[in-house]
Amino acid sequence: MTDTAIRLADYLAPSHLIESVALTFRLAPEATLVLSTIRFTPNKARPGSHDLRLDGENLTLIEAAIDGVPVTAEPDETGLTLPWADLPEGPFTFTAEVEISPATNTALEGLYMSNGMYCTQCEAEGFRKITFYPDRPDVMAPFRVRIESDMPVLLSNGNETATGPGWAEWTDPWPKPAYLFALVAGDLIAHSAGFTTMSGRPVALNIWVRPGDEGRCAYAMDSLIRSMRWDEQTYGREYDLDVFNIVAVDDFNMGAMENKGLNIFNSKYVLALPETATDDDFARIEAIIAHEYFHNWTGNRITCRDWFQLCLKEGLTVFRDQQFSGDMRSHAVKRIEDVLTLRARQFREDGGPLAHPVRPEEYVEINNFYTATVYEKGAEVIGMLKRLVGDDGYARALDLYFQRHDGEAATIEDWLKVFEDATGRDLAQFKRWYSEAGTPRLKATEDWADGVWTLHLEQVTPPTPGQPLKHPKVIPVALGLLNGNGDEVLPTTVLEMTEAKQSFRFDKLATRPIPSILRGFSAPVILERATSPEERAFLLAHDTDPFNKWEAGRALAKDLLARMVTDNASPGPDWLDALARVATDDSLDPAFRALALRLPGEDDMAQTLHASGITPDPARIHAARRQMADALARRLQPELAGLIDSLAEPGPFTPEARAAGRRALRLAALALVTRTDGGLRAAEAFRSANNMTEEVGALACLLDIGRGQSELDTFESRWGKDRLVMDKWFSLQILYAAPEATAETTRRLTDHPAFDWKNPNRFRSVLGALSGNHAGFHHASGDSYRLLADWLIRLDPLNPQTAARMSTAFETWARYDADRQALIQTELDRVLAAPGLSRDLAEMAERMRR
Ligand code: ZN
Repeated sequence: MTDTAIRLADYLAPSHLIESVALTFRLAPEATLVLSTIRFTPNKARPGSHDLRLDGENLTLIEAAIDGVPVTAEPDETGLTLPWADLPEGPFTFTAEVEISPATNTALEGLYMSNGMYCTQCEAEGFRKITFYPDRPDVMAPFRVRIESDMPVLLSNGNETATGPGWAEWTDPWPKPAYLFALVAGDLIAHSAGFTTMSGRPVALNIWVRPGDEGRCAYAMDSLIRSMRWDEQTYGREYDLDVFNIVAVDDFNMGAMENKGLNIFNSKYVLALPETATDDDFARIEAIIAHEYFHNWTGNRITCRDWFQLCLKEGLTVFRDQQFSGDMRSHAVKRIEDVLTLRARQFREDGGPLAHPVRPEEYVEINNFYTATVYEKGAEVIGMLKRLVGDDGYARALDLYFQRHDGEAATIEDWLKVFEDATGRDLAQFKRWYSEAGTPRLKATEDWADGVWTLHLEQVTPPTPGQPLKHPKVIPVALGLLNGNGDEVLPTTVLEMTEAKQSFRFDKLATRPIPSILRGFSAPVILERATSPEERAFLLAHDTDPFNKWEAGRALAKDLLARMVTDNASPGPDWLDALARVATDDSLDPAFRALALRLPGEDDMAQTLHASGITPDPARIHAARRQMADALARRLQPELAGLIDSLAEPGPFTPEARAAGRRALRLAALALVTRTDGGLRAAEAFRSANNMTEEVGALACLLDIGRGQSELDTFESRWGKDRLVMDKWFSLQILYAAPEATAETTRRLTDHPAFDWKNPNRFRSVLGALSGNHAGFHHASGDSYRLLADWLIRLDPLNPQTAARMSTAFETWARYDADRQALIQTELDRVLAAPGLSRDLAEMAERMRR
């Protein structure tokens, strides 16, 4: 594996730059012709006599020429080398004609077909499957694209500059790397709108979908318009073309792609009606539309020098979309949700065999590094930076970033330098957040004497693969102090920790304060502090920081659940009463109350137990969590019916946060009632639901108590023709299957005629749900492990990217007992022995194997 690894340390500037690119596509499903005319010029930054290496994979070269002189060199498996001796001294024109076959491209990378429409996916290295090209992000060029096809709608990047029967020509004036290239041709309908930028320029907005779906685009369009306005108002960033196109496709490996002026989306993150999409779907559509739009400046106008710098665009763009969602909805709720995801995905990754720095230093297959660490931890690092330099410093640094690097392919060094230059701060130590993997543990202890309260902090980052030794990081610790009445005696203050051990003194205090540490989750660390249940309950009731208020309740629940698993404890009044108070406190945001009622997840619990040296038993965690829910249901029983009724939304459905929060709390209450009434109320809610949030929410309540078969049938007959809704039907049955029935339920569903396993959404809705059911996936029989491995082996030859991504279900093996470890290792070995294994899945399995 190591001999094929690509290393950051080996970076070399490109030998040649490109002045312009012209492409012509003659589209045909199995024989598309791609004609390219590329104007090259030697790169002065890389003097010397260099061959020109062009990347190219799965291409049939028909002919190529340099300034009209035929090229005699033959392509190899991964590209074509034009020897220095054949290259003119100055600029020259390379032309090529190649043939490709979109109809047989099942990897969904390069030019492929989905439901009869042509579309592309080029990030990270898909353009090389379209034509011979230096497929690296530091080679940027303006593109002109001519598409010849009898498809009614022909789209590419930039503005449409000419069109006629059977062809269209698009011109993108902004130099871009090849990974931002896109082309779409199909029978599509637009949902259109307009936007006037802050300087008064009109922009045509279109969301292109398959006929029949045009009525499901309104929310995505509204989200786009709000994103455009927000980026003007918050970052001073204006859109820079005459048109912004979004296309929804059903077959897509990821969420969406920010191709310049032509975003391509997984249809799951575009199409939504109240009847078909849940509140979570609406929130994700809003966030992803914003994310891809924001990439226009953070990613496209300023791109990455090389793929090691991926977090430069992704961490920053996630950070921006999180700010946007917070502004649109509730910052408190958004922060809690983001931390839940961070812990569930990134902490999990950081604590296992796949741990890597936010800026990795080597990779075999770059597609394997579109990870929670690069995206979510990458965003956390920016949040810390902003906390350290303040809002003004952040704004100055970002202005400088856009001014200094517009039109460039930049690095993390460039990024940190703008912060240093704009604020005068030295960020050498801070940079460790980019280079060291692993989640720091922050141990906190306190002293109290003579009115002086001292906080002692110690940071330790455990070793990660390839990085045995860690160094102290700069950790912004937001702290507040409360007195016994719940009054704030120290408002939120950011302590800057830079040493391995450090103490902070607070004097002139009348009484011993109750600390609220790491407010707003000010750093992506694991806080370890011995805290009594009374103190947690106090903070749950009184903390003025909404994140830490929620965190106190969560910690209380996790402590209890841990004791239930290890000591057979049972839920006592401390937790039950504290939670009941929050659940019924009408002065609190319903969305916050719903989050407070959400019990810790089983995978999260397994992670926490493992971190404290206990081998998690998935079956026991599952049973204890249900027992916890039962106890809560009994405790709240007198209130639940009233709560459910009072939260009913009178008017028509609206997806906005206030209404969604009320539905979330209502469904949390319904789930509890279902545990005591045998499903009466949930069955009624299912019958009367007029939106997908409640329909699917009620169904989940029923499945969770082992009922809901007739409702599943109703659901299937109602939604059988709707792909996106049916994905939910597949998932739910597996997610809520009893542990011993999970593998069998999954197997049965893979036999269902609608299980189209080549469609990534459908594959994920079934096999992703299998690994999402913690107790079912880790059932002692090993059936689920085998089933997942079978399907990864089957998918890999067709779609290596999705197979590799889904193999991360096995990344947690080291947490479990020896029997489970052995079972998982057997499956990883079986994957590694699969004939023709892809580089993608091979790298993942190698890294995970003991
Ligand atoms: Zn992104």
